[in-house]
Amino acid sequence: MCLLAVLYKTLPSHPIVLAANRDELHDRQGSLPEVWERTGTRFLAPKDCRAGGTWIGLNEHQMAAAITNRAEPRAPVGVRSRGLLTVDVLGSLSPAQAARLVKDEVARSTCNGFNLFCAGPDEGFIAHYDGELEITPLESGVYVIGNRDLNDMTCWKVARTHALLERMDGTEPEGLVAGLKTMLADHARPGPADNWAGNDDEPICVHGEKNGTLSSTIMLVGRGEESTIYLHSQGSPCTTRYERCG
Ligand SMILES: [Zn+2]
Repeated sequence: MCLLAVLYKTLPSHPIVLAANRDELHDRQGSLPEVWERTGTRFLAPKDCRAGGTWIGLNEHQMAAAITNRAEPRAPVGVRSRGLLTVDVLGSLSPAQAARLVKDEVARSTCNGFNLFCAGPDEGFIAHYDGELEITPLESGVYVIGNRDLNDMTCWKVARTHALLERMDGTEPEGLVAGLKTMLADHARPGPADNWAGNDDEPICVHGEKNGTLSSTIMLVGRGEESTIYLHSQGSPCTTRYERCG
C-alpha cells in the first residue's frame, strides 16, 4: 500500500507539507519527476511507466495533489487508470475546480476506489471513493492516508506515522525535512509492548517479495515557487538519496 502524510497549515512558512511513499509491484516503476502540461497548466510529477498517469505532483499554482489506491470497488480491467485522474487534477487552476472535475469523473465513468488529496496554500480537500464519493474540505492539521479511510489507526503504518509526526520538531523547514526522511525510511513493526490488534503490520518503508517502496517524495509548498521545496528519492528511502526537483 502507499502512504501519504500531510501537515496542512501547521508550518507558517509552508502551508502544505507532504511526505509520501509509493509502494508498488517491483516491475511497476515510475520516472523521475518531469514537467507536464495539461489544459495550459504546468506541473511537476513523476510518470507511472505502465499506465502513463501519476500519483503525486505539484502545479504552477502551488497546488499539490496525490492519490492512493483503495481495494474497493474494483472496476473491470481496462478502466481508466486512477493516475490519469491525478493528471487531470494537477491540470486544474484551483482545488475547487479540481473537486468539480473529480465529481464529474466519478459520475460519468466506472472508477477503481481511491483516496485523493488536493490542496493549495489557502484551501484543499480529501476525496474518498469506495463506491460512493465523499469530499472533505481540509482544515489545518495532520492527515495520514493509506489505502483505507483517512487516519485509519487500525493500519500499523498510519498509526506509526502519526506517532512519529507527534514527536517531530515541526517548527522549521530543515528540521522537519530531516525528520520526514527518517520517518519515510522507518522499518519498525509492532512489538510486544505495542499490544497491536490492528488490521495489518506492514512498515512504512516496504521491502516485500513482490512489492516494495519504489520511490518517495517530500514537498514543502510555500506561497511562491521560490520558497517551495520538492524532494524525490528514486528508490527505497532508506538507501536512496532525496534529490531536489524543479
Ligand atoms: Zn527501507
